[in-house]
Amino acid sequence: MKISLGEVMASKDGKIDFDYEIDLSREIVGGEAVFQDPVRLYGSVESRNEAFMLEGTVETTLTVACARCLKPVRTEQHTEVSLILTRKVANEELEDMIVVDTDELELDDILIPELFLDLNTVVLCRPDCKGICPRCGKDLNEGDCGCSRKEVDPRLAKLAELLK
Ligand SMILES: [Zn+2]
Ligand SMILES: [Zn+2]
Repeated sequence: MKISLGEVMASKDGKIDFDYEIDLSREIVGGEAVFQDPVRLYGSVESRNEAFMLEGTVETTLTVACARCLKPVRTEQHTEVSLILTRKVANEELEDMIVVDTDELELDDILIPELFLDLNTVVLCRPDCKGICPRCGKDLNEGDCGCSRKEVDPRLAKLAELLK
């Protein structure tokens, strides 16, 4: 969504609120389409002296594979963004400061990269997820598969073969 900085300055409170949704379902993160739900962006742009203050929140529910058993897990994503936008380069570069040279502010271009930086895609379906058996692939949350869990040192395995 675009916001005009001129309109922000001309508005009664010197502030414009925004609240909208975008579809990022085509974005692939780590091989997965994590954005199966719409992404909501809301907040405000406020005129402050020579600059503008952008306060925004990006919210969605991510669908990611459990880091251990690969089962799909839904997890809340909540990213807070607080930035100062200025029309001219200040003498000292401040952190969280963006220089804008147009009147139109494309909020997606500012907020979505912040969402990606903040994205938490390493999640477990439950804290004690047992994962899947590396030998037979069975989901160990559903019970033991009977495979030997002992990791045999390959050098010792060779020795054992020789001794047979
Ligand atoms: Zn799991
Ligand atoms: Zn197994």
